[in-house]
Parts: sequence; structure tokens; C-alpha cells
Amino acid sequence: MTSGDRHPGLSLRVSVTDRCPLRCSYCRPGAGALGAARDRILTYEQIANFVSVVMDRYAVRQVRITGGEPLARPQVERLVAMLAALGVPDLALTTNGQHLAGKAAILRRSGLMRINISLDSLDPVRFREITGGGVLEKTLAGIQAARDAGLHPIKLNTVVLRGRNDREVVDLVRFAEEQGAELRFLELMPIGMASAGFAESFVSSAEVRERLEEAFDLEPLPERPEDTSRDFVVRRERGGGTVIGFVSPYSQPFCAGCWRLRLTAAGSLIGCLARPQGIPLSWDRHGGSRLDAGAVCEAVDLALGLKRRDGNFVQPRHMVMIGG
Ligand code: SAM
Repeated sequence: MTSGDRHPGLSLRVSVTDRCPLRCSYCRPGAGALGAARDRILTYEQIANFVSVVMDRYAVRQVRITGGEPLARPQVERLVAMLAALGVPDLALTTNGQHLAGKAAILRRSGLMRINISLDSLDPVRFREITGGGVLEKTLAGIQAARDAGLHPIKLNTVVLRGRNDREVVDLVRFAEEQGAELRFLELMPIGMASAGFAESFVSSAEVRERLEEAFDLEPLPERPEDTSRDFVVRRERGGGTVIGFVSPYSQPFCAGCWRLRLTAAGSLIGCLARPQGIPLSWDRHGGSRLDAGAVCEAVDLALGLKRRDGNFVQPRHMVMIGG
């Protein structure tokens, strides 16, 4: 796979920080876990330079800003504006929503098109437990602010965990419907922290779907080969419907159609979640934020060439470090 190959377009995930104030049990280790040294974290100029080089040489379908928690990094709207100015066709951001209420409007004005918000529970106590200290009210206020700002679509992401939130899936669909949002159920991946106790916590998409079908009619939407989510519409009697999706990396790996490429906060490329090694990019620290385009293409091709196609997700690093 090289820059010349035909593919549906890369989906770039750009991590702006490997830190997060929350400690979701499946994502981030507890107290004491530190990220990369602050002077190794890429500047917004370096990130924008990387994206512009990749956009020049490859088809890029989407750039998603993520982390760690991207809204924990100051002025992330500045990066949004820089990427929007490059003409990124689909500019998205994934957040835990805790600081979204004060940020949604400026993110939208800066050029953000759409947003994914993690929401693992509608019960404040369970939400706090799963997220290791998150406040449900704040995320709900963030969802409202995203709606008011006109971010569309809003996608809510729920990692389904046995014995914790698996009984809430019907309520979550009803909530998404009230909010005019889409909802995606994510299968837990045995990555980093989530490897311990994985078998006890894992709930397959098939099981979630069965539970939902007791309450709703699910109408499948057409599939594209590059889709990582299997989407359905929950039809309502009065017309319209809510889109829900199942992301099933464990029970139905979508490796064959995976065109994701991740840039970590410290500047390594990861082409595959199943590969522990990243390919470091090197910026000329003295020459500012410019990258050598040829070296970037070599690194991108190398990272994409390391993609496994067998759905083996075992990965020692935590998701917070890789960038979700
Ligand atoms: N802080 C942001 C957030 O909470 O959405 C963005 C980063 S987070 C790593 C991105 C997404 O990855 C979240 O929706 C989270 O639930 C998901 N995630 C993290 N670890 C995971 C795991 N082991 N299995 C499945 N999804 C995971």
C-alpha cells in the first residue's frame, strides 16, 4: 500500500494530547500515569503541517481530532481553524463532553463540522464510576451546547460493559432520539488496561442488538466497504428515526476496510491498533514546524503497510496514549 494506491480515502485521527482528566476503566490507567514530556507534544503548527503534506499526497476523507481529551488542551479551536483553512473535507472531534458546554460554539465557528461525544451511562453515579470521576450533568450540558451550536451530526459513543451499563442500552437509544443525535455502541477492545478482566466485561454487538430488538424495529442502512459501523434506523410511528450503529472490532473485525491512520500527540504514526510500534516522524526543530514531504510519505506508507488484517487487537498501550 503506497501513496499511489487506490483506496476510499484515509481517515486521520490526530491526537492533540495523551492526557485526560477522566479515568475510564477501559482506557486510561489510574493516578500516577503520566503522558509524554510536554516538550515532545506536537505544536498545532506541526500537526497542521503534517495534515497538509498528507492531504497533498493522499486522498484524505476525514480528520478527527482526539486524545486523551482534546478539549483539555488549551485553544484547540486554533487547530480546528488551521485544519478548516486547509480544506479538510470532513473535520470532526471526539470528546468526553466535560468541557464542551463552554467550547461548542467557538469550535463550530472555527470550522468544526461534527462531533462524537462519549456517553457510557445516563445514571450520574454509574457515569462517575465508569469514567473515574466524570460528572454526567457536564456531558449533558455539552450535548445541548453542541446542538445549539449547530454541530451535526452529533454522535454519542457508548462502550458497552457487562454488569455496568449493558442494561441501559434501550434508554440510551431513547435519549439519543430525544436529542436528535446518533448513537453508536462500541465493543470493548482488549487494549492496554482493558485486557485485564476483558472476558467478564465484554458484550458483543449481537447481544446488544438482540436486546434492542425486543424494544424497537431496526432497519438496516446500506453498507459501504469502508464503514466501521453497522448502522440501522430505529423507526418511529410518527415517521423519521434515529440512526444507531454497532462498532464491532472484536466480534467482527473490520480490518479489511480499515483506512485509519493515527498521529499520536508526540508525533508517531500508528497504522494499526494491533501493532505496538509507532513510526516516529521527525520535524526539524531548528527549521520550525516543516516536515520533509518525502520522509512523511515513507513513514505513512510504512505505518499503513504494518496494518494487520486478522483482527488481532492485543496491544499493550492504553487507548489514551494512542488516541481514540
Ligand atoms: N477523551 C475523548 C473521549 O472520551 O471520547 C477522546 C479519546 S477516547 C480514547 C475515544 C474513544 O475511544 C471513546 O469513545 C472511548 O470510549 C473509546 N475507547 C477507549 N478505550 C477503549 C477500549 N478499550 N475499547 C473500546 N473503546 C475504547
